[in-house]
Amino acid sequence: MSFDNLNLVYPLQRALSEEGYTTPTLIQERSIPHLLKGKDMIGIAQTGTGKTAAFILPILQNMSASHKTPRPGVPRVLVLAPTRELAAQIGDSFAAYGRFTRFKHTVIFGGVGQGAQVRTLSKGVDILVATPGRLLDLVDQGHVKLSGVEYFVLDEADRMLDMGFINDVYKVVAMLPKKRQSLFFSATMSPEVSKLARKMLSNPAHVEV
Ligand code: AMP
Repeated sequence: MSFDNLNLVYPLQRALSEEGYTTPTLIQERSIPHLLKGKDMIGIAQTGTGKTAAFILPILQNMSASHKTPRPGVPRVLVLAPTRELAAQIGDSFAAYGRFTRFKHTVIFGGVGQGAQVRTLSKGVDILVATPGRLLDLVDQGHVKLSGVEYFVLDEADRMLDMGFINDVYKVVAMLPKKRQSLFFSATMSPEVSKLARKMLSNPAHVEV
């Protein structure tokens, strides 16, 4: 299979060819068709399988269908990640795969001052990648509003639970608009992980690699 079979728009195909990617990985091949149709999805995949591109490419394509001016503190895409390292990596991937689109992305995480993050948010943001604690802080202070989220991704859900972020994640999910596309990734499936998936997904496609 080649990326040509996945019907990606030209700005994404061009970014992939600059990255030197010719063939989709298994998770990309299996996820992208569901996600381009707007379906919710639960993906069981380890890091290293190409899961980041599997969610970023269809989200960029779906959101390209309606162009909106980036609003201060009101993202259209929210990606939650358990650690600052992972959040930063996902932000870099949005920059790489989205380099021929016009979307603005920002990464926020704790352990550093919030001033620079707040200033970037105030300039307008389409895509927000966040760790849960810092996100809730900035929501409480009114710097982020989740009412505009159209696409929600929870990455490494099992690690999120292991690190004690479950209540924060539930709080975030409760603030999201009901009408949205939600994606859930985890390396492993426990009863707790699957309960969280059921809470945030609606009639999801299951993809396991
Ligand atoms: P991930 O599992 O998302 O952390 O991705 C693992 C690594 O695979 C990253 O370094 C990506 O840049 C790379 N990668 C993702 N998709 C592809 C692809 N289709 N072809 C080649 N490399 C890829």
